[in-house]
Amino acid sequence: MSNDRIYNFSAGPSMLPLSVLETAAREMTNYDGSGQSVMEMSHRSKVYLSIFEETKANLKKALSVPDTHEILFMQGGATFQFSAVPLNLMGDGGSADYAITGNFATVASKEAKKYGTVNIAASSEDRNHTYIPAQPDLKLSPDAKYFYYCANNTIYGTAWKYVPDTRGVPLVSDMSSELLSKPVDVSKFGIIFAGVQKNMAPAGMAVVIIDKSLAGHELPFTPKIMSYAVAIEKDSMDNTPPAYTIYMLGLVLKWLETQGGVAGMEKLKTAKAKLLYDYLDASALFSGCAEKAARSDMNVTFRTGDAELDARFAKDASAAGFANLAGHRNVGGMRASIYNAMPADGVTALVEFMKDFEKNT
Ligand SMILES: *Cc1c(COP(=O)(O)O)cnc(C)c1O
Repeated sequence: MSNDRIYNFSAGPSMLPLSVLETAAREMTNYDGSGQSVMEMSHRSKVYLSIFEETKANLKKALSVPDTHEILFMQGGATFQFSAVPLNLMGDGGSADYAITGNFATVASKEAKKYGTVNIAASSEDRNHTYIPAQPDLKLSPDAKYFYYCANNTIYGTAWKYVPDTRGVPLVSDMSSELLSKPVDVSKFGIIFAGVQKNMAPAGMAVVIIDKSLAGHELPFTPKIMSYAVAIEKDSMDNTPPAYTIYMLGLVLKWLETQGGVAGMEKLKTAKAKLLYDYLDASALFSGCAEKAARSDMNVTFRTGDAELDARFAKDASAAGFANLAGHRNVGGMRASIYNAMPADGVTALVEFMKDFEKNT
C-alpha cells in the first residue's frame, strides 16, 4: 500500500484496490489509445461496448451466473431496487414475505407496502437485530409472490449463514454488502441485487441478477426506467448507463481474478474476520455486538459499553490512520467494514492499535 493512504473502514463507499485506482488513473485521459477518457465515450461506441461486454462476461464468470439469469446494471443504487422489486414482482393485489433483520430490510418492506401486502416472515427486532432467525422460525406464506431478505446487515453486523428454503417461492436478496465476497448459488435466487459501493465499484449503481422468467409482470404504472423486462430487452441501455462505474467494476473484476476469484475472497474474508473477532472475544475492553452465530465477516460491530470511550476510540483511531470506525448512528459503538479491498495488513494493524488502546485505557 502506498504510504500516504489510510485504512478506510467505511461501510460504503469504501476502499477500492489500489491497483484498480492506479489503472484508472493511468487510463484517465486516454483509454487504450482511444484518445479519450472512458467518461467521455459514447456508450454506443465500439470501444465502450467492448468494456461493457467484458465486464458483464467477467461478472457472469466470477459468480457462475447460469444462462437462466440475466445481469443488469441499474442506476439508483440498492435503494432503487427497494421499489423496483415490488413493482415488478408483486402483481395486482399480491403479497410478499419480508424477513426484517435490520435497517435496509425495514426500509425495503415499507416501500413494498405501497404496492401490495407485506407479510413479516420473521423479525430480529426484539433483540435489536443482533441475530438471524432460523429456518424453522420463518413464517412462509405459500401464495407470496416472493420472499425478501437482506443477506448481510451492514449496520448491525449480522449475516445469514443459510439460504432460506421457501418451498418454491422466488427468493429475492439484497446482497449489497457481501456480493463477490464468497461463492453464491445464483440458481437458487429469483433476484439478487447489490449497490456496488460496498464491494464492487464507486457508488450510484446496482448490479441486478434476475431469473428471466420473473420479468414482464410489472404493475402497469411501473416507471419504464424500473422495468426489469425493459432493462433485459435493452441490455441495461434503455438510457445512458452509468458508463464509468461499469468500467470501474470491470477493473475490480480483473483484480478479483488475480486474487483467486470469489473463492480467494472467501478465504481472505474468513481470515480477516477471525483476526478481529478472536481479539474481541479475548479483550476485556471491547466486545462484539452481534450474537456469535450471526456474525458478519464484512461488517464487524463492537463496543466498549461506554459511549464516551467509544467516541474517543474512533477519534484516536482516525488520527492514527484507521478511518471511519464509528458505528452507524442507529447503533452506536464501532463498526469495522472489511470488504474485499481491505488488505489483511489493515486488519492486523487495527488489532494492534486496539490492543495498545486497551493497554492504555
Ligand atoms: C448500503 C446498503 C444499501 C443502500 O445502498 P444505496 O446504494 O445507498 O441505495 C442497501 N442495502 C444494504 C444491505 C446496504 O449495505
